Amino acid sequence: MNRIPALRHLLGLLVGVALAAQSPSLVRAGRLLDVRTGQLLTDQGLLVQEGRITASGPWGQVSASAPKGTTILDLSDQFVLPGLIEAHTHVLLQGNRFSQDYADQILKESVPYRTLRAAASARAALMWGFTAMRDLGSEGAGYADVDLKRAIEAGVVPGPRLFVAGKAFSATGTYPLQNYAWELDLPSGVRVVDGVEAIRVAVRDEVRRGADWVKVYVDRAITQGADGRLRSLTNYRPEELKAFVDEAHRLGKRTSAHVKGWDGIDAALTAGFDTLEHADGFTEELLDRAVKQGTFWCPTIYAGIWVAEGRGPLGKKYPEILAAAFRKGLAKGVKIALGSDIGAFPWTENPARELALMVERGMTPLQAIQSATVVAADLLGVKELGHLGAGAHADLVALPENPLKDITALQRLQTVVKGGVVVRTAPLAAAAPSR
Ligand SMILES: [Zn+2]
Repeated sequence: MNRIPALRHLLGLLVGVALAAQSPSLVRAGRLLDVRTGQLLTDQGLLVQEGRITASGPWGQVSASAPKGTTILDLSDQFVLPGLIEAHTHVLLQGNRFSQDYADQILKESVPYRTLRAAASARAALMWGFTAMRDLGSEGAGYADVDLKRAIEAGVVPGPRLFVAGKAFSATGTYPLQNYAWELDLPSGVRVVDGVEAIRVAVRDEVRRGADWVKVYVDRAITQGADGRLRSLTNYRPEELKAFVDEAHRLGKRTSAHVKGWDGIDAALTAGFDTLEHADGFTEELLDRAVKQGTFWCPTIYAGIWVAEGRGPLGKKYPEILAAAFRKGLAKGVKIALGSDIGAFPWTENPARELALMVERGMTPLQAIQSATVVAADLLGVKELGHLGAGAHADLVALPENPLKDITALQRLQTVVKGGVVVRTAPLAAAAPSR
């Protein structure tokens, strides 16, 4: 094996080739997918300056407008689309099919160790083409997610743009670690808070420590009623839930509700949460309310399947209940964003598999791609993400196959660019991190 190309390849993978740190660069796209319309445009160009796209259009026009000697990233044999966005992750978790897996991570792994693993998870995600992620709770690792975000932004470690929740919230006696001897004072996977005023103060404190999102566990204890509906116990009174939402919104932050049963979804919609996570128990009536309110939904299909045998409620029947809700929600036009809940399953599995599951449950490949680009960017409220128009971050992925024909092709990306920096230009096998 020729050592020099191998070394160059490795450096390219680890450091990222600075395409456009300072000077402008051009990207030539053989096929460029306009994710809003589904149109595949032929021979397109993107001009990239200081990490952003400053012009896009037919290659002839864009390349003519570029200064002489501009570096070209030639993707003329590939399909190019915006970098993927994962809207429900846990970088600080490494899979917990059984509740003991969760307890082991909290009790046996230090926060520094978990953070090192999180850095590896973030790197893997970026290599898979996820250039942005919303991470919904550090699960007992304090604000390590805020630190990881900071380290990525500073270029200390590679990873997606992170939007983090810090510690998620739940009420006393509702979230692991639970059911240990009563005299033990054990750590919790959440920030425990009760009562309207305490909630307001806690939300302010989370934001002070760097949380971009306020995540609340709204329900637990799932059962199936005689009418087939999923029922649950809510963790908070309505006025407490409203306090989370009001205070977060007052501070300019959005809110995410973990909900599974009818009662939780009803409570979260009444309180006005911006996004619902899981929401397996969605009914026609609740879906109508979500559509009317413009609430986003991350269905977390794969995580539901993955944990079904272990800690999932109702066993293997549960993923089928979610699949039925998904089909109904899709028909009603609820805003569905890609959110796999990776971290509930290990970071050795590419969360792009969630897109294939969405297509199996009725989405078109374009709708699945939209869920991971425009819709997820909308959920985040970041207009520079999810598209490749002028003003967008130069975050893109490219692949030799047409993802509109086969959505699983997104699990076989060839090129990843974040902020104009080429993160990867080789097939995944060469780039997969060793674990
Ligand atoms: Zn989650």
